[in-house]
Amino acid sequence: MPAVTHCLSPHAARPQHGCERLVWRAPYRSLVRVRPVAWTCSCRATVYELCLGGGRAFPRRTVRLTGAPRVQETAPMTITEAQAAWTAVPSGHAC
Ligand SMILES: [Zn+2]
Repeated sequence: MPAVTHCLSPHAARPQHGCERLVWRAPYRSLVRVRPVAWTCSCRATVYELCLGGGRAFPRRTVRLTGAPRVQETAPMTITEAQAAWTAVPSGHAC
């Protein structure tokens, strides 16, 4: 194992003042297979993923502080909406 690991993924920024509010909720178990297509760096306590499945997409947020990770997702959106949210969330423009 190298002593220094280099981060390959972008880092999630802190939510900015006045950020657009998304509705985060517990993951909804659906029959549609969902896979992450983009993600922020896992070296941070909060990791965001863009999940895609069944022609819909949504951002997923995983917060690892102490204990079990807390996973939250927004409601599924169209892929266009989800991509807009995906660029807004890790940059801190939506939270
Ligand atoms: Zn990192």
